[in-house]
Amino acid sequence: MDCVFCRIVSGELRGYKVYEDEQFFAFLDINPIRPGHILVIPKTHCVNIFDTPEVFSERYYSVVQKLSRSVSNAMLADGINVFQLNGSAAGQIVLHSHIHIVPRHKDDGASLSHDNRMKLEDAELKSICSRIIEHI
Ligand code: 5GP
Ligand code: ZN
Repeated sequence: MDCVFCRIVSGELRGYKVYEDEQFFAFLDINPIRPGHILVIPKTHCVNIFDTPEVFSERYYSVVQKLSRSVSNAMLADGINVFQLNGSAAGQIVLHSHIHIVPRHKDDGASLSHDNRMKLEDAELKSICSRIIEHI
């Protein structure tokens, strides 16, 4: 299947992994809203909230909660945005279910849209990745 997130999970494509267990995987967003922006995904391919097996849903949220704390502590955030886009009408671009976790700082001026995303260097992404892992 030609799914970019499945290819990251399988290791075929480079991903800055911060977390993995039997069912879930989390990695840095390549074009973050803010440094430390991560995506949490089920390892089994599903598209969005509508087809994710219910058996995953509760655990999905608890992984998101745990990683929200890690991202917040690692990035010394003042707040965290947690959100999911479901369907192209809602702005979903990658059709493999994912929940965004974005650390926020007071007056950082960031917007949650796809515009004005950041481009970070490999060294910075690696350093953020290690910082988050240290806080898990
Ligand atoms: P959405 O589907 O929620 O609108 O957005 C998809 C998200 O995945 C975007 O924030 C985008 O930056 C991120 N993204 C798209 N392609 C890749 C990729 O190949 N690697 C990583 N790490 N993130 C990606
Ligand atoms: Zn997939």
